[in-house]
Amino acid sequence: MGSFEELARERERAKELTVRLVELLATRERVVAEIARLKSELGVPEFVPEVERELRAVALKRAVELGIDRDLVRRVLTLVLKSSVRAQEGPSNSNRLTHMDLMRLAKRMERNGREVVHMEVGEPTLGAPAAVARELSEAALKGYAFYGEAAGLPELRAAIAGDLMERFGVDVRPENVVVTQGGRFGVYLAMASILSTGDEAVVIDPSWPHYKQMADYLGCRAVALKTTLEDAWAPDPAELEGLLTDSTRLLVINYPNNPTGAVINQKLMDEVVDLAERSGAYLLSDEVYMDYSFDEHVTALTTNSDRVLMLMSFSKSWGMTGYRIGYLVAPSEVAERATRIQGSLLTCVPEFVQVAALKALSDRETPRKYREHMKRGAEIICSYLDRLKARYVAPGGGMYVFPELQLEDATEFALKLLERRGVAIAPGSVFGDYQRNVRLSISDSLDKVEKGMRALVEELRGA
Ligand code: PMP
Repeated sequence: MGSFEELARERERAKELTVRLVELLATRERVVAEIARLKSELGVPEFVPEVERELRAVALKRAVELGIDRDLVRRVLTLVLKSSVRAQEGPSNSNRLTHMDLMRLAKRMERNGREVVHMEVGEPTLGAPAAVARELSEAALKGYAFYGEAAGLPELRAAIAGDLMERFGVDVRPENVVVTQGGRFGVYLAMASILSTGDEAVVIDPSWPHYKQMADYLGCRAVALKTTLEDAWAPDPAELEGLLTDSTRLLVINYPNNPTGAVINQKLMDEVVDLAERSGAYLLSDEVYMDYSFDEHVTALTTNSDRVLMLMSFSKSWGMTGYRIGYLVAPSEVAERATRIQGSLLTCVPEFVQVAALKALSDRETPRKYREHMKRGAEIICSYLDRLKARYVAPGGGMYVFPELQLEDATEFALKLLERRGVAIAPGSVFGDYQRNVRLSISDSLDKVEKGMRALVEELRGA
């Protein structure tokens, strides 16, 4: 039998080893700083996937040789590599203005009596149909105001499954539908159901910032594939594959895209789903702008893959941003986890809101009307961009255009445009490494979009 002295000795050793671990990390940090210096002198990017892959491979091989938990090593490696890349990026972007800051600033100006054109956020000011609002209040009066099922009202889940079948011919079972408190929370639920500390998620830049923020929030690492205007914002599947590691658990795509308005074709969708399947990752396809596809919408659900999750929201199609309701279609094991998390955090989405959503679902006219509005808005924006000879890709859907302007710093420009001309836009840096781009959103009335674009042209021309 062991003695207490022995136990104290072993504890002392564990303490020393832990301190040595910290010292090793400190040494590694100094080496990383030196690498950063050399890379910046040589013009090498901070993140080089092949170098990381090799490093992971040798470290994991050693873990196997030493007989220690490979999974623990894999997770620790992700965190160490994440912090190395961060350190090389220098001062973070966190002190930069975001579109939400600009929105707050714009709202403050409005409160002070200034008229503002809102092109900074994706909120259709057209709002929810009156019939939906009426249904909401009637539902509350009828007593749809108690605790409900965490996955959502059975009749709404069934109606969503039926709607998807009717529109896309996909066989979705109501058990695979989780009604969520908005699309934003749906992203969180999907990620929290799939990712654990030290896992990686791959996103495609430019991207809605929420994906990276949530990966970070969950102690994971978001790795971005950068796409370019030259390639019409299309990801290259081979490049995407190059980013996958044995820590990748999730790929996130979003078409029609925020902020570029790019859409995906069936071939690329099939390739991306295939990639997720082969790598054992899940694919989250954020399709909240599906009704704003100017042509036929391509959904990830048609692939019938058991690795695919699809996210949808009532915010855009029916202008129900303030109702906070959306849904996830997910494989059973993920749907069950998402339901448990939502149940713990929120109990359920308010049932009167769900009844209103059920009403919205039967209204195909409003999404059609809103799509026409977005299409017309995009045409107006593009016509002004043509006058400026700005580079852009004409959107295939969504509610944004993401041009590159002749600017060094779009954030400064966005601020000037708001202060001098009362037009709020979102700087490209919100969505990744796109300092010369801006996101122009079609939230307001078409008259206002036109007014905003006139002001933007004048500001750029220094008039
Ligand atoms: N996904 C994308 C790509 C979005 O742009 C948004 C809203 N900006 C959402 C999801 C979520 O919208 P909501 O939470 O209002 O459903």
